[in-house]
Amino acid sequence: MEYLSLMLGSLATNCYLLKLGDGKCVIVDIGEGAPVLLRRLETEKLTPCAILLTHGHFDHIAGVEQVREKFQIPVYLHALDVPMLSDRNANLAYWISDSPFQAVQAWQTVADGQTLTIAQKDFTLIHTPGHTPGSVCWKCEDLLLTGDTLFHMSRGRTDFPGGSDAQMLESFRNSRRWRGITVYCRDTTRNPRSPLKKNTIQPCEVFNTCQLKKQKHQNHFPSSFPDTP
Ligand SMILES: [Zn+2]
Repeated sequence: MEYLSLMLGSLATNCYLLKLGDGKCVIVDIGEGAPVLLRRLETEKLTPCAILLTHGHFDHIAGVEQVREKFQIPVYLHALDVPMLSDRNANLAYWISDSPFQAVQAWQTVADGQTLTIAQKDFTLIHTPGHTPGSVCWKCEDLLLTGDTLFHMSRGRTDFPGGSDAQMLESFRNSRRWRGITVYCRDTTRNPRSPLKKNTIQPCEVFNTCQLKKQKHQNHFPSSFPDTP
C-alpha cells in the first residue's frame, strides 16, 4: 500500500497517510501539529476519509479534533482508550505537553479482529494491550502500523499509567497473526527522529526481540512516572 509519513509535535510522533486512490486517504494517528498535516493534505491533494488511532496518548491524538471537525470524518479506536480522548491526565498531556488540548468530540470503537472497509480497502484492528490498555496495531494489505507497541528492534514503554509489561508480552505471544507481514515502525535505537524501517518479521523474532530488550528498556526507563492525582 502506498503511504506518506509525517512527524508531528515535540515528540516527533509518526502520522501516516495511507493512499486509497482517487485522491482519498486514511490518516493513522494525529499528534500535535494538525496545521502541518492540513498543509500536507493540501499539497498532496488528498482528502481524508477516516482517522484510525493506535492508542490514546496525546502525542497520537492531540490534532484529531481539528481534522475530524474540518472534514467531518469518523475516528476509530479500541474502546479501552476512549477515556484518553478527553482526559488530559489519562492521555499524559497534563504531564508532558504545554500546548492546549482539544478533546475529541466523536468517535467509534472497533473490537479486536474487526475489519473496516474504507474505499474498498480493508483495515483490521489487532488489539495489542501493554503500552496502553487499548493499544492496537492496524493491518491493511501488507502493512502493519504498530503505534507505540513495536519499534524497530524495540518495543513501547509499559511504565505509564494503564501500561502492563505482562500484557505487552502476551500481545507479542499472540502475534501469530503478524506472520510474514511487513512492519513499518520507527527506529529509535539511534536517533529518535530517524525515518521508518521496513522489516518482514516472524512472531518468534518479535517475541525474542522484546525479551532481549526488556532489561535495557526497564533500566533506561525506571517506573518513575509520577502518581496521578
Ligand atoms: Zn504512547
